[in-house]
Amino acid sequence: MASMKEKSGSTASVSAASGGTNPGFFSGKTLHKTMHNSRITILCGIVTILVLRGTIGSGVDKRNAFRDLVEEEFEEIEVEWDPAVPFRLGAKITNWDEQRERWIANHPGANTNLQGKERMLLVTGSQPKQCDNPMGNFQLVKALKNKIDYCRLHDIDIFYNIAHLDIEMAGFWAKLPLLRKLLIAHPEVEWIWWMDSDALFTDMTFEIPIEKYKGYNMVLHGEEDKVFDQKSWLGLNTGSFLFRNCQWSLDLLEVWAQMGPKGAVRAEAGKLLTATLAGRPAFEADDQSALVYFLATDRERWGSKVFLEHSYCLHGYWVMLVERFEELMQFGSPGGGGSEQYRWPFVTHFVGCKPCGSDRGKDSYATDRCLKHMERAFNFADNQVLEHYGFQHPTLNTARIHSIRNETSDPLGVFNLVTR
Ligand code: UDP
Ligand code: MN
Repeated sequence: MASMKEKSGSTASVSAASGGTNPGFFSGKTLHKTMHNSRITILCGIVTILVLRGTIGSGVDKRNAFRDLVEEEFEEIEVEWDPAVPFRLGAKITNWDEQRERWIANHPGANTNLQGKERMLLVTGSQPKQCDNPMGNFQLVKALKNKIDYCRLHDIDIFYNIAHLDIEMAGFWAKLPLLRKLLIAHPEVEWIWWMDSDALFTDMTFEIPIEKYKGYNMVLHGEEDKVFDQKSWLGLNTGSFLFRNCQWSLDLLEVWAQMGPKGAVRAEAGKLLTATLAGRPAFEADDQSALVYFLATDRERWGSKVFLEHSYCLHGYWVMLVERFEELMQFGSPGGGGSEQYRWPFVTHFVGCKPCGSDRGKDSYATDRCLKHMERAFNFADNQVLEHYGFQHPTLNTARIHSIRNETSDPLGVFNLVTR
């Protein structure tokens, strides 16, 4: 291109030097040469425009094309399950405890972490599609960072899922096929911990008192009288719970999933749940109501192995907590210590916020309010991480940080130790 420009420039200078009155200027050869050069110049211009248009335009076009492709993909794989065939999450397994026992005997030590504790896998996830609201995508990244931080600090494995392993079990039911797959694919894991994408750790120091749950196979935030006596659909919360890797858990998942297949089955199950459970509005079956139903209607088989925890926030309802963070920072401390009044919530769960979805039911909270408080909860937790590196958020309402201490030339303090 540069050489072409130089060429047309030299033609101009030649014509100027030749003078406007030169009769030979437009004569045969010169005219031909000028027209030839002009054609090249115009051609160059067109090529430049095409290249520029291609570069600028293609980004937009490709993005749209990619989005269309993704949307199409999701539309195509809607396969209806045949209700004539009983729905199952997977092959029937009846001796999982024995299989695991043998596997562990062949892999000694595989089921404990570096601290010698029972190996735990935290599982979370979100929909395969991007969020309708771009802030939702950003919030998912922050919520994942929060979980990665907690797991790193406590030697817990982490798995993030964005696939629908079973198209019948989309939405809040997606965790069931996923949990089953992970339980059998990770015999080394003693406990699987499901956590919703909209739940954040807000006490980075606290650890689950796992010894307390000997003899139990599942731990959820909940209250016995609400589940077993009142049969309240809000008697427990399925946004954060622990599952022991054992046959009982596989069996419960299979029974639980019976209300999940979308369409007629889920709609009918929703009617049964609304008729049976206290306070439940009419809507299709959800995983939380279904679990309350199975625990309450077969307490011996299911309820007796479930620990309903409320001595700390395995799930904490955000509305009750988020306005109090500053007060908790002032009067309380992390780790579950101090007075009960100022105890830091272990997990803050933004139930009903749906920052990623467009299906905002009448029980959803305003997106702005949710995003503001999710940001505050994130920063409350992030301060506990940043503190270690000498930074803090000046207030919980900003992503900005400032330095809170000077670096020393002895950051590990090893020389102080030696000289002491
Ligand atoms: N979820 C998922 N895949 C999906 C949709 C949802 O893994 O396609 C997960 C996600 O972690 C989400 C959880 O299911 O947090 C439950 O949904 P949500 O938190 O919106 O329900 P709520 O807590 O408001 O009842
Ligand atoms: Mn949730």
